[in-house]
Parts: sequence; structure tokens; C-alpha cells
Amino acid sequence: MSNQRCKLCGRKLKNWKSIQRGMGSICENRYLDKFYKSQQITLESILNDKTKRER
Ligand SMILES: [Zn+2]
Repeated sequence: MSNQRCKLCGRKLKNWKSIQRGMGSICENRYLDKFYKSQQITLESILNDKTKRER
């Protein structure tokens, strides 16, 4: 159980939090940064989808 590795860079995870999330803190920050940026795009597409459905 202690041989968990980061999904993104493959490094061994030492912190319990990192093991739970499956990635290191640095990679997590990068991942969240990408996630929020992509979420802004999907939010727009969702809004467009809603306006289409209401018609
Ligand atoms: Zn990593």
C-alpha cells in the first residue's frame, strides 16, 4: 500500500494526502490549474447547451 506513485510524474508519494489523491502536491497544483482553465471553457459550452435545450 505504501508504493503509491504519482499519476502524473510517477514519483513515489510520501504524504497521506498525496497518496489519497493519487498525485504529488506540485502535480496537483498543475492539475488543478489545468482543471480550472478547462472548466471555464466547459461552463460556456454548458450554458450554450442549456439555451439550446430551452428552445
Ligand atoms: Zn507528480
